[in-house]
Amino acid sequence: MAKYIPEPYRIKMVEAIRQTSYEEREEAIKTADYNMFSLASSDVYIDMLTDSGTNAMSDRQWAAVMMGDESYAGSRSYEQLMEVAHDIFNYQYIQPVHQGRAAENMLFPLLLKEGMISISNFHFDTTSGHVLLTGAKVVNCVSPEAADTENYAPFKGNMDIARLRELIAEYGAEKIGCIVMTITNNSAGGQPVSLANLQETGAIAREHKIPLVIDAARYAENAFFIKERETGQEDRPIKDIVRDMFAEGDAFTFSAKKDGIVNMGGLVGVREDADLIKGIKARVVPYEGFLTYGGLTGRDLGAMAGGLAEGLDEIFLRSYIGQTQYLGDRCLELGVPIQYPTGGHAIFVDAKKAMPHIPYYHFPAHTLCVALYLEGGIRGCDIGSFILDLDPQTGEQLEAALELSRFCIPRRTYTQSHLDYVAEKLADVMKRSEEFQGFEVVEQAKVLRHFTARLKPYTP
Ligand SMILES: *Cc1c(COP(=O)(O)O)cnc(C)c1O
Repeated sequence: MAKYIPEPYRIKMVEAIRQTSYEEREEAIKTADYNMFSLASSDVYIDMLTDSGTNAMSDRQWAAVMMGDESYAGSRSYEQLMEVAHDIFNYQYIQPVHQGRAAENMLFPLLLKEGMISISNFHFDTTSGHVLLTGAKVVNCVSPEAADTENYAPFKGNMDIARLRELIAEYGAEKIGCIVMTITNNSAGGQPVSLANLQETGAIAREHKIPLVIDAARYAENAFFIKERETGQEDRPIKDIVRDMFAEGDAFTFSAKKDGIVNMGGLVGVREDADLIKGIKARVVPYEGFLTYGGLTGRDLGAMAGGLAEGLDEIFLRSYIGQTQYLGDRCLELGVPIQYPTGGHAIFVDAKKAMPHIPYYHFPAHTLCVALYLEGGIRGCDIGSFILDLDPQTGEQLEAALELSRFCIPRRTYTQSHLDYVAEKLADVMKRSEEFQGFEVVEQAKVLRHFTARLKPYTP
């Protein structure tokens, strides 16, 4: 099979994007206080800030929007969604909610409380936030391979099984409210988790009677990587692999804004635990709304039903993950250092290598994002020291293990020539990296500062 296949769709509606001049971008980023989140989208040419909720819906999904049944209770659109979702996940209870973090808010207070811990191959930031809100602590336990950006390993998102066993022995199983398996492992560079690793983690969870929660935002991509890379899985339909993956979990949370190919929506699911189902239902009604809409309109439910099915289609997945691989390969050809192998939804540029003269406390990964914005109007974001808040005790800047600049690929939104442009502009930035000296923070919030902080260029 060809390495990259052409996009399996043609375009029937377009949204204009406008390139700005270098001078306009200099002005725009200055006005935004050098924060990528403060830029107006009209000042951005190619927006790779996130793949979340930025996907293009199909004609069938738009048709479902028009056909949305807005009944308060028992809407047809809800029935459509349930039919698709039960078929994919095979769980007894599946509940729509308004997005992934709402699913977390429905589930985690039922599993965790003060004094307990949650162990994960990596808690996504909102997941970690919801664990902390219950008073519990988060412990990340990703395979050590994840920290090596250069060498190939097929499943860098895996749980570190030996360390997981140590942690359970250390804390005692009764203190561990849940084990969270994030697929793909977003915070480790969109890297997949193998089916074998998921099964081993599931066995350990069952042995110690600890609920296993699957954070499923990019479950379809993960299943595709299993098919591509795991021995014995290459001839199996994606859907069968997904069934095996979810059989290991007791519950899942799902942001439909990623592999659900919608602009808003989420799900929370429980395999069979009746108490957990009862607990979630009791939370959904006051926080999200009645059970058959869960914070969404009927048209949202219909669009999600379509997106779930389309997002699991193997040809779509081959094309979408192929786009990411294509961009990664172009970067490597042009000498741009990226996290290797390329993950599912984004490329991650290793800013320690791209901007070696900038120390962590002047934010090399953020600097690279600003440089690429100036060079080509492309927006990405820092996944490095800038997104770490200050140490709450000492007030000192923490140092991230990796300084990565992330450029996400929204689904079905950009074409290969957009990606060529991105790779070329990254290569151009590499040539003039020494012109950039880093940034310093002028004003910041105590938590999650990266969304609102004001910065200025650092001058030595
Ligand atoms: C996006 C995401 C979430 C949170 O979902 P929202 O829809 O943004 O609230 C949780 N976990 C992972 C892995 C995600 O990528």
